[in-house]
Amino acid sequence: MKALDELTFDNRFARLGDAFSTHVLPEPLDEPRLVVASKAAMALLDLDPAVAQTPVFAELFGGHKLWAEAEPRAMVYSGHQFGGYTPQLGDGRGLLLGEVYNEAGEHWDLHLKGAGMTPYSRMGDGRAVLRSSIREFLASEALHALGIPTSRALCVIGSSTPVWREKQERGAMVLRLAPSHIRFGHFEYFYYTKKPEQQAELAEHVLNLHYPECREQPEPYLAMFREIVERNAEMIAKWQAYGFCHGVMNTDNMSILGITFDFGPFAFLDDFDAHFICNHSDHEGRYSFSNQVPIGQWNLSALAQALTPFISVDALKEALGLYLPLYQAHYLDLMRRRLGLTTAEEDDQTLVEGLLKLMQNSGVDYTLFFRRLGDESATLAVTRLRDDFVDMAGFDTWAEQYKARVARDGDYPQEQRRERMHAVNPLYILRNYLAQNAIAAAESGDYSEVRRLHDVLTRPFEEQAGMEQYAQRPPDWGKHLEISCSS
Ligand code: AMP
Ligand code: MG
Repeated sequence: MKALDELTFDNRFARLGDAFSTHVLPEPLDEPRLVVASKAAMALLDLDPAVAQTPVFAELFGGHKLWAEAEPRAMVYSGHQFGGYTPQLGDGRGLLLGEVYNEAGEHWDLHLKGAGMTPYSRMGDGRAVLRSSIREFLASEALHALGIPTSRALCVIGSSTPVWREKQERGAMVLRLAPSHIRFGHFEYFYYTKKPEQQAELAEHVLNLHYPECREQPEPYLAMFREIVERNAEMIAKWQAYGFCHGVMNTDNMSILGITFDFGPFAFLDDFDAHFICNHSDHEGRYSFSNQVPIGQWNLSALAQALTPFISVDALKEALGLYLPLYQAHYLDLMRRRLGLTTAEEDDQTLVEGLLKLMQNSGVDYTLFFRRLGDESATLAVTRLRDDFVDMAGFDTWAEQYKARVARDGDYPQEQRRERMHAVNPLYILRNYLAQNAIAAAESGDYSEVRRLHDVLTRPFEEQAGMEQYAQRPPDWGKHLEISCSS
């Protein structure tokens, strides 16, 4: 276990130099205070959890202090936003503080979001509000607990600093951890600004640090791109299987590591709705729940375009062709497991699609349905769940197919079936209304609800005594919350 001043830095991205990032000091928050910290994320840095309670913790992550070895930098990138190319973006309100390595030899980028203005702030104020910082923190740690690849969050620091959005709010900072903060948009920036040398330097950096095994391949860059395609297919399959809607799948928000990145107006589905749009600025539904799958491929094509100086178009096309079949395979594998199946049959896809259609028509709670399906034997469960469907006859037909499929799958004791299903079907997910309750309390100075919710979400598959209220469908007020995009 380490104390705060014992972190070991090695800032390899910073050393790429001024073409890649700009030195900027964090702008401190007034009266910084700990809102919430993640012990699990602290463990990634070997930090003793007790240090979160010390004043210096809030000072460090509230922008007042820096380690001598930290080299705060704002990164430059660009990206396709809602399908259109924006030539220059960059860290407008976040700073890469440095790269820290832990005793296991892993490297983690420390990124402080809400740290003030940078050369890339454009019209923004460089700040993040408490509300959006709490949402990013909870989402990162909740997705991780569900087994979905994601950036992590170490803590949220609140403050008395006024920040103007639709109304006056308070500034906050979230400390994000990821093995890399390089986005598709980094490659696009150097490609479209026609800087082949820097682009090659960036590609070498990513290859060396994050895809060293690709060096062994005859075409290392192609192997790396293929790996990025595979990781994205798997990540998006997990989003779809667990009902996570990202909301702003711009290429500047897509990580080259295939991890969920940059949380904005994201949402988990309550009722199943393939057409759900969580981002209120997304008038055309470009990033609707079901569109996440083709958009994943669109984004990879944008990255492929930026890699044309290194890889032939034919090879890029071939690698892109891996995306959909891989996505399908991962998705179906997860959905089979959610249904309690241990074997694969040709018609499983139809079984899943049939269920989703029925859930869509009846507005069935996506999370609770699967959890309840594992509570009882297949026969008892479908009998109990039937009442949730408007089209009962339709559900009965599906239920017969399901029961027959379960029978063919094998004869398992119910206890075993429950255990297996509950291990993949969460009881607790980050519902928007739960986040909203925690945020309302935090905005009035009470952080206990954020901490409790975080704690519940770190063990989503495990029934927790006294936490029934976190495993409910939303009340009426919480069903269609408008989550502001201004964060
Ligand atoms: P996002 O939609 O959060 O991914 O942000 C898109 C771009 O706008 C990124 O370059 C951000 O750094 C920048 N940005 C977002 N909010 C602010 C802000 N309040 N101040 C400065 N830049 C911001
Ligand atoms: Mg972003």
